[in-house]
Amino acid sequence: RPVIGVLALQGGVAEHLAALERSGADARPVRRPEELAAVHGLVLPGGESTTMTRLLDVFDLYEPLRQRLVDGMPAYGSCAGMIMLSGAVADEDRPASGAPAVRPFGALDVVVRRNAFGRQVDSFETDLDFTGVDGGPVHAVFIRAPWVEKVGSDVRVLAAVPDDTAQDGAAGRIVAVQQGPVFATSFHPELVRGDERVHRYFVQIVRAH
Ligand code: GLN
Repeated sequence: RPVIGVLALQGGVAEHLAALERSGADARPVRRPEELAAVHGLVLPGGESTTMTRLLDVFDLYEPLRQRLVDGMPAYGSCAGMIMLSGAVADEDRPASGAPAVRPFGALDVVVRRNAFGRQVDSFETDLDFTGVDGGPVHAVFIRAPWVEKVGSDVRVLAAVPDDTAQDGAAGRIVAVQQGPVFATSFHPELVRGDERVHRYFVQIVRAH
C-alpha cells in the first residue's frame, strides 16, 4: 500500500484520510517535516488558502513541502489545496503589509481565481464528466470554490462545469487539472460517501510514480 499523507493543518482532513484508506492507501496526517518526509504522495485538503499559507509557516512545513513538490512528489489538492498547488492567484487581495496572503507552490502551471463561483452562489453540487475516471459522471460538491482561469501547455484539463455565460463556445469553467503527478479539483470528492473514484485516481498516480 502506498503511504499517502494528508496535510493536517486545517480543513477537511479526516474525510480525505478515510477516502484514501478506502482507496487502498496507507493514509496518515502530516503536520511535521518528518511526517512529510515519510509519505509517497500528499493530499492538500480544502479549507482556507490564506490560513493554510500562514499555518505552513508556523509549522515549518512551507519550505520542505515546496522542495518535495520540486522533486516531483505526487500531490492532489482539493479546493483550497488546488489554490496552494497553483502557479498564481488572479486578482489576489493583498494585506496592507504588501505580502501576498496566499503563497501558492507553483506545482501546476495554472492561474486560479479564488471564490470564483461565489459571485453567483456560495455552494452548489453537480455531476461532471471526469477524464481518466471511468464509470459515469462524478458527483461534485463545490464550496466557495476556485476555478482555473488559465492553463499552461503541459496542463491537462480533466473536468469543466458548463457555463451558459462563457463566450465563443468555451468548454466552460475548468475545475480539474493535472500536470505530471500533480492534480487538483475545485470540488470536494471526499464529501461524497460511497464513491472513491477520484481518490483511487490519485492512488494510481502515486503507485505509478
Ligand atoms: N475559498 C477558500 C479559499 O480561498 C477555498 C474554499 C474551500 O476549500 N472549500 O481558500
